[in-house]
Amino acid sequence: MRYSIFSLMRQALRGHADWTPAWRDAAPKRAYDVIIVGGGGHGLATAHYLSKVYGIANVAVLEKGWIGSGNAGRNTTIIRSNYLLPGNVPFYELSMQLWEGLEQDLNYNAMVSQRGVLNLYHSDAQRDAYARRGNAMRMHGIDAELLNANAVRRMAPFLDFDNARFPIHGGLLQRRGGTARHDAVVWGYARAASDRGVDIIQNCEVTGFIREAGRITGVTTSRGEIKAAKVGLAVAGNTSRLTSLAGLRLPIESHVLQAFVSESIKPRIPGVITFGAGHFYVSQSDKGGLVFGGDIDGYNSYAQRGNLPTVEDVCEGGMAILPSLGRVRVLRSWGGVMDMSMDGSPIIDRAPLPGLYLNTGWCYGGFKATPASGWCFAHLLARDELHEVGRDYRLDRFATGHLIDEKGQGAQPNLH
Ligand SMILES: Cc1cc2nc3c(=O)[nH]c(=O)nc-3n(C[C@H](O)[C@H](O)[C@H](O)COP(=O)(O)OP(=O)(O)OC[C@H]3O[C@@H](n4cnc5c(N)ncnc54)[C@H](O)[C@@H]3O)c2cc1C
Repeated sequence: MRYSIFSLMRQALRGHADWTPAWRDAAPKRAYDVIIVGGGGHGLATAHYLSKVYGIANVAVLEKGWIGSGNAGRNTTIIRSNYLLPGNVPFYELSMQLWEGLEQDLNYNAMVSQRGVLNLYHSDAQRDAYARRGNAMRMHGIDAELLNANAVRRMAPFLDFDNARFPIHGGLLQRRGGTARHDAVVWGYARAASDRGVDIIQNCEVTGFIREAGRITGVTTSRGEIKAAKVGLAVAGNTSRLTSLAGLRLPIESHVLQAFVSESIKPRIPGVITFGAGHFYVSQSDKGGLVFGGDIDGYNSYAQRGNLPTVEDVCEGGMAILPSLGRVRVLRSWGGVMDMSMDGSPIIDRAPLPGLYLNTGWCYGGFKATPASGWCFAHLLARDELHEVGRDYRLDRFATGHLIDEKGQGAQPNLH
């Protein structure tokens, strides 16, 4: 069923009785060309581009819970392409361009909203670093504007410009950045992939791998064995668990990241605003809630919930730039399990086991990457070669030293 203003009107006249399910609830077949483990945004985007761009539709996406139940449905929905390093710039810009055409591509309202992402700076040194990043972006044709304090004040007069510790001196603005509704992204990709024949199989946990002659030839699941010529993993914080079943140890640690949403208030925050002297970011959802978050919890965990000291730390960061936040009640908080890599950048590559392919290491920035991640992973699965745009996200960079450390933090996953 094609979604349009006319289908909406037709359904409205019929009491919304004739909507068909957005995707088929498939049962597993015995074998596929490709199995993708993980029904998050990355797995489903991969299935969509595999079927659409490469014509490979004999594909199953296996999800242990329901699609979008992982980080795809837990993030703070920020999308942007304001990166500095050569490995990252073209990849995240491809993602941004795919976001810009996503709703037409999927025929689905993913509420992509380019309301701008503003990174605040609080010192001259930080302004210089932002100027450098903005220049790198502009050299690659990506929009970036360095704002002084007055320009920021015009956009966001409610910020605390004269905070004694962290005065706001200005900001780096990417107007094309913004937000997208995360669960709608998952549903849109699922619907488009399912329409082309991809099987989306929920409640199907992968419990092991089938090996034949040194090659991965399928998976064992809670719903039986399923064979495939290629198996791709897109399981975010569960990557190390799954790869250990194949006898692999990856440079990935799992950490919790929390997020928060407040009660709804009148429209106040124009776009996404981030604190430059600590870790805090905020935007306002279309329902009016302030959606915000900060740092990861800093210890390894597979639990989808965090601890109170981090809640305090996030709220302190928020109060430093936005004192009126203290008047707003928090409605909900939750956590997701992040696949933190040693240099803060992802891995889209073959595993050192024939037949097995990896999509991981998204840290807490993988939502914005969803379209490009799916695009490049589909290319890898279809052609058995790295896509030009994601070619630096190789697994062996940790052995060769070609790290992509965007933050310059060193090999500490909890700091990325
Ligand atoms: C609180 C929070 C805020 C964030 N904010 C942002 C943000 O603002 N912007 C941004 O760009 N990124 C953000 N991120 C990061 C982003 O959400 C993730 O990097 C991205 O969603 C990862 O997508 P994914 O599809 O790889 O993983 P997921 O959505 O986690 O999908 C993986 C799926 O694999 C399934 N799975 C796991 N093990 C198995 C198994 N054995 N068998 C079958 N299925 C399995 C899981 O159930 C899950 O559904 C945030 C993350 C969190 C938690």
